[in-house]
Amino acid sequence: MFEDRLLELKDKDLLRSIIDRSSSQGPVITVNGRRYLNFSSNDYLGLASHPDLAGAAASAGKRYGFGSGASRLLAGGTVLHKKLEKKIAGFKATEAAVVFNSGYSANTGIIPALAAEGDVIFSDELNHASIIDGCRLSRAKTFVYSHKDVRGLEKMLTKTKASKKVVVTDSVFSMDGDIAPLKDISDLCKRHGCLLYIDDAHGTGVLGNGRGALAHFPIRPEPWIIQMGTFSKALGSYGAFAAGSADVIEWIKNTARSFIFSTALPPPVIAASIEAIRLLSKKTGLVAALWENRKRLVNGLMQAGWDIMASETPIVPVKIEDIKETLGMSEHLWKNGIYAPAIRPPSVAEPRIRLTVSALHTERQIKMLVDAMNMSNYKKIYKSPGRQETK
Ligand SMILES: *Cc1c(COP(=O)(O)O)cnc(C)c1O
Repeated sequence: MFEDRLLELKDKDLLRSIIDRSSSQGPVITVNGRRYLNFSSNDYLGLASHPDLAGAAASAGKRYGFGSGASRLLAGGTVLHKKLEKKIAGFKATEAAVVFNSGYSANTGIIPALAAEGDVIFSDELNHASIIDGCRLSRAKTFVYSHKDVRGLEKMLTKTKASKKVVVTDSVFSMDGDIAPLKDISDLCKRHGCLLYIDDAHGTGVLGNGRGALAHFPIRPEPWIIQMGTFSKALGSYGAFAAGSADVIEWIKNTARSFIFSTALPPPVIAASIEAIRLLSKKTGLVAALWENRKRLVNGLMQAGWDIMASETPIVPVKIEDIKETLGMSEHLWKNGIYAPAIRPPSVAEPRIRLTVSALHTERQIKMLVDAMNMSNYKKIYKSPGRQETK
């Protein structure tokens, strides 16, 4: 029934395939019995396979069992869930926090809790798909502003008469690796009396010495700022959270449908998230090692003349113009034992190789990636005079 449509995708080079590992996540993974250098994961700090996370999960499983059996409102949660929420509120310097089952479920639940029909949402054009879906579900009128365009946003805000306005943005954009101008955006929100909802999925554990985007700028948490973040990326676990003032968090618990109508996360997952936050606070060198590796990768790529687009974080896209060539580059790397995925429409408008670097990559592994890219046929197409990052 879907054969023709699948063929159509294939003809356009848009058919996606799933790569499953037979090893743990990390800088080296095993796929189909072969080892690959891995530059694709969001496990920025290498916590996904840290033994202390697995250990915390195992002990919690022994004590509380694996499954949670019901939603939080029906006693599906445990004291660990509460403990994690307290830890998050402390970590983000907010009054309260609530745990969600995933980043996707957080955005599709929280955004409709903050804005409804008659209200207005302003959303950056490069926001994550789960934000787009959350805006749709809310039924609020959604204005999409140009990427990071504070002036454009201000014009839209000035023109809008609605009494309830919410600005929604990623802190770090997941496919471009650039950072939203949150200081300007938060000043704007304050002036216009808007709520500001920040998706800090790629900022948590990465920016602000691990504390996230607000600590990075720094911006003081305010009652009109709601931070969302995930445990699934730098924290190496699974799930998500919202952090903010006590009343907004209470409101979210009472109205976010993905919170109310979904089974609570299993206790072992919660225990792993608690352990991840503990490790992050204790191992202060981890975040610094991540940024050191980011610098190594970016310097190597820029010296060789690759275009890293607007990257400012450990997400480093490399521009390759068209879909066929992007796929060709990814295949070339794969043949050389390196996994670096091609990202193409509809995920992004401009095809690219999306590299992510972790604190655990070695200097040699990063050099192997850059050398392999330089060996490809695509170098002569895209090479521009070498330049080095100055900051
Ligand atoms: C990954 C991501 C999500 C979704 O989080 P999951 O926990 O993987 O569901 C949401 N927002 C952004 C910006 C992301 O990068």
